[in-house]
Amino acid sequence: MSIHLRFLGTGGSFGIPIVGCDCVACQSSDPMDNRLRSSVLLSWDDRVVLVDAGPDLRAQALREGVRRLDEVWLTHSHADHTNGIDDLRVFCHEGKEPRPLIVRGNPSTLTDAMARFSYAFRSEVDPSGVSHPLLVPIEIDGPFHTLGRQIVPIPVLHGKLPCSGFRIGNLAYLTDVSTIPESSYALLEGLDTLVLSALREEPHPTHLSFDESIAVARRIGARRTWFTHFAHRITHAGMLERFPDGIRPAWDGLRLEIPE
Ligand SMILES: [Zn+2]
Ligand SMILES: [Zn+2]
Ligand SMILES: [Zn+2]
Repeated sequence: MSIHLRFLGTGGSFGIPIVGCDCVACQSSDPMDNRLRSSVLLSWDDRVVLVDAGPDLRAQALREGVRRLDEVWLTHSHADHTNGIDDLRVFCHEGKEPRPLIVRGNPSTLTDAMARFSYAFRSEVDPSGVSHPLLVPIEIDGPFHTLGRQIVPIPVLHGKLPCSGFRIGNLAYLTDVSTIPESSYALLEGLDTLVLSALREEPHPTHLSFDESIAVARRIGARRTWFTHFAHRITHAGMLERFPDGIRPAWDGLRLEIPE
């Protein structure tokens, strides 16, 4: 049973192009340089999980023909990963019947998301008839079993913010990372495919830079590594030259199959 991953978005918090920017990436005519805010779709059998619900969710779901979600997993609560929560509404019905949707996240992620989208986490239909998402929060506090799979959350730090990566089989998805604790490296052994954020050339207080991401990827040693969550100022073609063998920049719409 293979796991499939689709990149819904591979851009940083502004997306690419950035409104009003004249840099080489933002002015590029290469479709690879159009990057919506980062999120991925994971699927196995007929199960579909969305990792992060960013502000581009509606456009991403239309582009990729997403019709149904079984669960949503949030890495952290920053706006570029959660501001599409209202657009989950369309996935909370089956025909005309309400179908509450599970949203998993670590404690700080859920606390923030529920404060900002309190109406969306009421799992009962509003008696006044106002339509809203029907989300059921489930806190991540260690490995969990769902939809026929064992899932291993990977605790990482995004500056000081605790952020969740996810390992499913031989695939790990880690975004918005600045530090990987030693105990989390132990959870990342024997990977076939690693997806890791790599923001930009210059250092950043809450994100790994290119060189830092390359060092982390080498230490983890997956068979293949895809970088994601890019800032602007470098094109896809530029990144192909910049990154070493075994590490490739992902792009919006890229599909991976991870064999088991
Ligand atoms: Zn982000
Ligand atoms: Zn730019
Ligand atoms: Zn973030």
